[in-house]
Amino acid sequence: MIDTVFAASAGEEMSCSDYFDQLPRYVELEASGQDAAALLPEGCQHMHQCSECEELYLGLLQVLVTKSDRTK
Ligand SMILES: [Zn+2]
Repeated sequence: MIDTVFAASAGEEMSCSDYFDQLPRYVELEASGQDAAALLPEGCQHMHQCSECEELYLGLLQVLVTKSDRTK
């Protein structure tokens, strides 16, 4: 039921604070090789519209990737 509500409002833009809530999950998915853009399309959309959030995302992703490289 909640999914239906979200789907109905899919046209709405996400705010930066909504994006920040999703960001850790988004980066984790991306770092683990999953298609984060397909799983969290709103986050992906916001990132393309907001350069600040995109920078933040790229920075976080780099930290995660660097970390996992070190454990190998
Ligand atoms: Zn933003």
